[in-house]
Amino acid sequence: MSITPHFLDALDTAPGHWPETPCKSRPELFVDSSRVIPLKEDRDTAKALCALCPVRRACADYAIDNDIRDGIYGGLTVDERNQRAHERVTAACAE
Ligand code: SF4
Repeated sequence: MSITPHFLDALDTAPGHWPETPCKSRPELFVDSSRVIPLKEDRDTAKALCALCPVRRACADYAIDNDIRDGIYGGLTVDERNQRAHERVTAACAE
């Protein structure tokens, strides 16, 4: 099984800058490039862990801004991130 590194690993240039996050201990629940779409039980567990994460909003924003097309980020699936991105555009147009 191949696991795509989580975004925190890519951004963590200063050790200790980011807090410990639940996904670091169980990355296979969040992104598994061999499956793309997480199993429902893994997805539900990942979402529950994200709900406890102090960087949830930044994580979701990162995935939306970079159009990441798999895995759970910020407690959101790809479809949920697409919906969030659509809502952003709609809100920006309304301003
Ligand atoms: S929100 Fe979820 S995927 Fe993102 S860093 Fe936190 S635990 Fe990991």
